[in-house]
Amino acid sequence: MKNIIFIAPPAAGKGTYSKLIKDNYHIPHISTGDLLRDKVKENSEEGKEIKAIMQSGKLVGDNIITKLLEERLTQSDCQNGYILDGYPRNIDQAKAYEELLQKIGQSLGIVIYLEVDKQEALDRVLGRVVCSQCGATFNTKINKFQPKQEGICDHCHHPLEARVDDNEETFLNRFNEYLNKTEDLINYYEQKGVLHKIKSQNNDTPEIMLERIKKLISND
Ligand code: AMP
Repeated sequence: MKNIIFIAPPAAGKGTYSKLIKDNYHIPHISTGDLLRDKVKENSEEGKEIKAIMQSGKLVGDNIITKLLEERLTQSDCQNGYILDGYPRNIDQAKAYEELLQKIGQSLGIVIYLEVDKQEALDRVLGRVVCSQCGATFNTKINKFQPKQEGICDHCHHPLEARVDDNEETFLNRFNEYLNKTEDLINYYEQKGVLHKIKSQNNDTPEIMLERIKKLISND
């Protein structure tokens, strides 16, 4: 099994598809955001330093991230492949990652870039509704995921609530900023010949997406 770097803009479904890959291939899903949050929980001096940086919205320094990643990627459950999420975020990190891989005897593997249309991503975010009781999610703007009865959960019949953390403007700003920031990284991996783009469309079920991902992994 190849190591996978998973890159996706906001609301592309990265969480859902990472879980599908993880469960299907029995490999760990490693998010640098989660590694850092775990470190913050330790309440050490380093944890406090990391917390302050994360709260400011800035990137944590490469030395800290590289050390945490080295600790994580050398654990036994990573020896058969892993999914990396939230890293690398720029070309400096991509280069630091390659040095780390060499040091720990791992290989780069493949990079999956989940492409999503901006309007579709917006519909996902603005149409999302969640059951107040069982947590099932539906989407009022996407046919396939609409509840059978408006505002009511299909499973337990409790009311559905909107989960709008973003309005249209802030979401589009976040989305555009993400594309700008990752453009160089995508080009970098494209030139290396390891980048695979897959389209994530709103009416694709998770099963269809998993088939696309599987094809890509087995073809490589
Ligand atoms: P995330 O959970 O990926 O949204 O990350 C939350 C925060 O953790 C980010 O805003 C950064 O402060 C930090 N972070 C996560 N991944 C990285 C990374 N690869 N490099 C630097 N900082 C990171």
